[in-house]
Amino acid sequence: MLTGRCLCGAITYEVTGKPQGPSACHCGQCRRQSGNVWASAYVPKAQIAISGPVKWYASSDKARRGFCPDCGSVLFWDPLDEDLTSFSLGSLDAPTGLRIGKHIFVAEKGDYYEITGDVPQVP
Ligand SMILES: [Zn+2]
Repeated sequence: MLTGRCLCGAITYEVTGKPQGPSACHCGQCRRQSGNVWASAYVPKAQIAISGPVKWYASSDKARRGFCPDCGSVLFWDPLDEDLTSFSLGSLDAPTGLRIGKHIFVAEKGDYYEITGDVPQVP
């Protein structure tokens, strides 16, 4: 089981299932909210237990983004029509045992960095 928390510790969570699809997202929304690339993995909603005062922001009519109202940690991405919740890899307690398997939304990546390495890139 993996555990994670926000920077101040007000929000904690437990992941009971095997995390799927560890990825680094370069989309404009993730970069703007997190400050740069947002790395996450996901599990079915029933396999993550979240405690604390998560603030949910409706970033579109398809998904909401969860963050800590006290310290601002960007923790969750939660689509409304899919049975999954994504959680940030950076908020996990080590060791995670995970590896980022792909870069996504690279067509929207910022112009201030290059993506290096041989991890697959998806436009
Ligand atoms: Zn916090």
